[in-house]
Amino acid sequence: MESIYKKIIENAYTLTKSRKDKGEVATYIPELAYVDPAMFGVHMTKLDGTNFGLGNNLEKFSIQSIAKVLSLTLAYKILGEKIWQRVDVEPSGTKFDSLLLLETYKGIPRNPFVNSGAIVVCDILITHLKNAKQEFLDFIRELSGLPDLTYSDKIADSEKATGYRNVALCNYIKSYGNIKNEPDEVLDFYFDMCSIELSCKELSHTFSFLANGGRTLKDNKKIISKSMTKRINALMLTCGFYDESGEFAFRVGLPGKSGVGGGIVALYPKNYTIAVWSPKLNPNGNSYKGMKLLEEVTTDSELSIF
Ligand code: GLN
Repeated sequence: MESIYKKIIENAYTLTKSRKDKGEVATYIPELAYVDPAMFGVHMTKLDGTNFGLGNNLEKFSIQSIAKVLSLTLAYKILGEKIWQRVDVEPSGTKFDSLLLLETYKGIPRNPFVNSGAIVVCDILITHLKNAKQEFLDFIRELSGLPDLTYSDKIADSEKATGYRNVALCNYIKSYGNIKNEPDEVLDFYFDMCSIELSCKELSHTFSFLANGGRTLKDNKKIISKSMTKRINALMLTCGFYDESGEFAFRVGLPGKSGVGGGIVALYPKNYTIAVWSPKLNPNGNSYKGMKLLEEVTTDSELSIF
């Protein structure tokens, strides 16, 4: 990797590490509360194959909602443009687990990245795949190049035992007819999907197809078309950080996705993907230091999609 990027990441990492962390670790999923709040890692993967990481960049963490981008990719591949009849493409302006707009829009979630939208995407995968859990896992194994990757039973079980809001969301959408399978089955898959664990390095590799026009870095295999890639990236920019998507675009200026495990992945099309992990979240459920670090990187490099 060119030394210019290394320097920018080193500077951003050092500067952000020394900041006071104003965030809080997510505790509503009991298992996530055990994470060491001081963990801090970053990893950049350039499309020329070079890599650079710092801190806890090789340590696995729960990617949570970041997995919603991968389940959307698989469902979009299967259903094509018809998918937008089941889930919309508008920012919600609400928290990730909000029920509010489901009544207004009659069970059609605002976008695939709020929980309601991701639950509908899980329903679509169950309808169209023989074994959604297994085939989704195979899909991430292929993208990440990690043949042994699996769901974390510990994290999934912890969320299954306490995920009342998601149960409410799924049942409420079902009442409008936009969930076709049994809510129990859909939720079981949703919680498993959110339980995937990856390191910053693995995460930035896994997402590199979205910076690369829909093709894998390793063997240039086409995963999705350029047009579909554009749309998924547009959704990450406008909806990837819930009610803070505007703020993320304003400060960082890249498409990205966060998760309540404290991870964020972002990408600069045709150039790089970057993943950062710091478990303490701001009030919108996004990593406090993760956002700060990415803001430093794009400001210092003077490179963003704008
Ligand atoms: N599994 C989490 C939930 O449903 C995902 C939320 C997130 O990462 N924002 O609450």
